[in-house]
Amino acid sequence: MFNKRVKIKELLTWEPSNQEVVIMGWVRTFRNNQFIALNDGSTNQNIQVMADLGTLDEATLKRITTGASLKVTGSVIPSLGKGQKLEVKASVVEILGDSDAEKFPLQPKKHSLEFLREKAHLRFRTNTFGAIFRVRHALAFAVHKFFNEKGFVYMHTPIITASDAEGAGEMFKVTTLPFDNPPKNEDGSINFKEDFFGKATNLTVSGQLEGELAAMAFADIYTFGPTFRAENSNTARHLAEFWMIEPEMAFHDLEDNMNLAEEFIKYIIKYALDNNREDLEFLAQRLQEEEKSLPQEKRSEMGLLEKLDFVVNNQFERVTYTEAIEILRESNHNKKKKFQYIIDKWGVDLQSEHERYLVEKHFKKPVILTNYPKEIKAFYMRQNDDGKTVAAMDILAPGIGEIVGGSQREERLERLETRMKEMHIPTDELSWYLDTRRFGAVPHAGFGLGFERMVLFVTGMTNIRDVIAFPRTPKNAEF
Ligand code: ATP
Ligand code: MN
Repeated sequence: MFNKRVKIKELLTWEPSNQEVVIMGWVRTFRNNQFIALNDGSTNQNIQVMADLGTLDEATLKRITTGASLKVTGSVIPSLGKGQKLEVKASVVEILGDSDAEKFPLQPKKHSLEFLREKAHLRFRTNTFGAIFRVRHALAFAVHKFFNEKGFVYMHTPIITASDAEGAGEMFKVTTLPFDNPPKNEDGSINFKEDFFGKATNLTVSGQLEGELAAMAFADIYTFGPTFRAENSNTARHLAEFWMIEPEMAFHDLEDNMNLAEEFIKYIIKYALDNNREDLEFLAQRLQEEEKSLPQEKRSEMGLLEKLDFVVNNQFERVTYTEAIEILRESNHNKKKKFQYIIDKWGVDLQSEHERYLVEKHFKKPVILTNYPKEIKAFYMRQNDDGKTVAAMDILAPGIGEIVGGSQREERLERLETRMKEMHIPTDELSWYLDTRRFGAVPHAGFGLGFERMVLFVTGMTNIRDVIAFPRTPKNAEF
């Protein structure tokens, strides 16, 4: 058996008393031909390994370079250095894999995030990305923990779908037809009957419609999977491939939906605060350093941990779209034309500059915006009695903007069909979806939380490309 190692995170909790230990990891630095800082990804803290020329031959010492992987057998002794309780005095150092110091791209110094994006295959080996991806893991685990504790059923909805009706965003087509000479119909259009699935298909933009079907049997379900949007918007908040969590609950109205979403967000943040303190403290420090180069008014008012504590311990503000439009229209920001898009009338869609004004300048806390005009929202949202608005809710977070989009769903068949016809959505193709309204329809609601936006919020990072391992964005599908 090879893996007799102790993880560094675990080792750091030991009392040093010359116990023998085996550790394995990658060299971060090697100083004075004697001190190896070894990291195994279990924590950002390195273990110091003492490797003396007395114990090791010169050829081996030469091969201990940044990036090389080692197996170290040694004894755990008290450390004389400050900031660490123990270190490992090596008796055997085995090089598992060499790393040419001339060629290894990560030097023991600060690299820019842009540089590291180009080296995304190696960036896990930096402190920043070590912390980010352990936090990402914790958040994903907390998502499942939250819903499991509430008795939700985790559904895996399809990645390849034929429904092009949702209208959530531009879609990637899935086909096996030849590009150069696809089979054609008489009118010149492509004959998808000859395609793999016998119809036009695409990558899913949301699992909601299928999620609703399951909610009509299990009552409470959630999905957590990849979604795809071919939106050609090169922003710091959009990916072409991102992960979304979509709970769908029978017997829930809009208020129940908001309550659940708020509880859920607080729960997963709290989980990270309780279980990833060290990584979050590191990220808080990083953010503070980064903001030093910004002018005072651009810096965050709160430190990262302070912000997260604040969100966990305070109620989200709940405001209607109509109230939000009033606030925005009356704001000095609007009057002085500081918005790129001026708010002049009811009915316009909010841009992220408006969302961020509401959360960061006006309310200074997360905001749940409700009851949007039906014209700017999806067909399945429940129509309010005013004839103008739908029971939608978006949650806006400081620094991010929209993090959740959700609604109570229209469960009344006739209303739903009428709205679909108005919006030119083919009711026959979605007959399976409409069956939920034909056979035992109930009031129900759900929402979608963009996982990477959540990770951005919790880690204090500012570009969504830095919180997913291998980002897919326009003109970029590296790795
Ligand atoms: P936005 O207006 O920011 O583009 P949206 O209205 O298109 O968002 P929804 O269709 O409601 O978003 O999707 C639900 C959630 O998924 C959003 O609240 C957001 O957190 C996330 N999301 C949407 N599009 C993307 C994307 N391209 N990349 C990453 N996350 C996304
Ligand atoms: Mn979008």
